[in-house]
Amino acid sequence: VSDAVVVGGGIVGLAIARAMAREGLAVALVEQGDLGGAVTGASLACIGTHMIDREELPLLLWARDAWAGLEAETGRGFEHRRCGQLRFLLDERDRPVAQAWIAAERAHGLAPRLLEPAEVRALEPLLEGPIVAATWSPEDAVVNPFLAARALAVDAVRHGARILARTPASRVVERGGRVVGVETPGGLLEARHVVLAAGPWTARLAAGLGVALPTRPRKAQCLATVAVPPGTIRRVVGACEAAAGVQAGYTQIQQAASGQVLFNTVLAGGLAEDGALERPALPDCRFVADSIAMLLRLFPRLRGVALLRSWVRFESVNPDDRFAIGEIGPEGLLVAAGCSGTGFVRAPAIGRIVADRVLGRPAPFATGLYDPARFHPAAAA
Ligand SMILES: Cc1cc2nc3c(=O)[nH]c(=O)nc-3n(C[C@H](O)[C@H](O)[C@H](O)COP(=O)(O)OP(=O)(O)OC[C@H]3O[C@@H](n4cnc5c(N)ncnc54)[C@H](O)[C@@H]3O)c2cc1C
Repeated sequence: VSDAVVVGGGIVGLAIARAMAREGLAVALVEQGDLGGAVTGASLACIGTHMIDREELPLLLWARDAWAGLEAETGRGFEHRRCGQLRFLLDERDRPVAQAWIAAERAHGLAPRLLEPAEVRALEPLLEGPIVAATWSPEDAVVNPFLAARALAVDAVRHGARILARTPASRVVERGGRVVGVETPGGLLEARHVVLAAGPWTARLAAGLGVALPTRPRKAQCLATVAVPPGTIRRVVGACEAAAGVQAGYTQIQQAASGQVLFNTVLAGGLAEDGALERPALPDCRFVADSIAMLLRLFPRLRGVALLRSWVRFESVNPDDRFAIGEIGPEGLLVAAGCSGTGFVRAPAIGRIVADRVLGRPAPFATGLYDPARFHPAAAA
């Protein structure tokens, strides 16, 4: 009988399994497909603290620092590059939003600044579009999502974790009010704790135990051009937060180490319709047109660069756009899902929280924000 079985081999589940294994816990991880094959491998994987969530800054700072040490700790490179992030403003009316973010982050010891267009061009020479200003967060980084997932998996195994890809957990098994493991095609995988890190599939697994979670899938899409010369885009280039948050739209543009320009512009993000997880998904035409239009508006010299590919995956989101992390339902059950589009950066911190819970230790930052009981106030009381 293991100490824990983790369901889900995305970056969150892998970070949890690795954190547990490094603490000497006996842990197994089951992934229904390939490791990192769901939203994790489709990610732009910006390791950023800028314009995400003011209240979560302690966790984000911890996670950012953890990522910075992970290549050395795991002994595997995954293209961690501290390139900094620019968030452009196309409208003067967004200046107060940018200034408020800068003030909040500076209060936590970060050093973002508001730059005028000429200063922006010194950092990002081909960003020649009609921006009125941009915030600059110099410490933000990027990683290669596939290589990062692999690094965590290899390190977890090196510390004794068992990782089983192509192994779906059909259900969590409970006896007498506590979980005893998960059912797989190879039989019952017994464990004292079961951690559901199954992204948008988490709610369904929890529902099998009569536990209601409001975690829903949201369609996330992206495009890539063919490779262009290195340094064409030097930073992560995103849109300044719109007043209504991520649901009102976002843009993210960056260049991968392969040379491809990765980019997306979503003008109105929405939850996926029921059953979307079961059907093959294609990018929306509107999304493709909006993304190309925004890329060329900002970087007009990229006109004529060929598009290589596009993809769609499903992120998991909770109604308050925050993760649910911790115990819920029968004894021994924990969840870690509902990332609202920035789960990559948080993954090492989530691993820390879950490992500490299982060990009965406090985490190095406040975790009350993530308590799954917030969705069940009566049960919490
Ligand atoms: C285009 C795009 C850009 C992004 N950019 C950023 C960014 O810049 N920064 C950032 O921080 N985040 C970003 N994200 C979000 C980030 O990628 C996700 O938050 C993160 O990868 C979520 O990881 P996860 O492990 O929770 O989910 P997933 O990767 O979905 O992993 C869950 C896994 O559980 C498995 N699973 C489900 N059910 C079962 C079962 N019954 N049995 C076994 N396995 C099961 C699934 O197959 C899946 O592999 C981006 C996402 C996209 C798509």
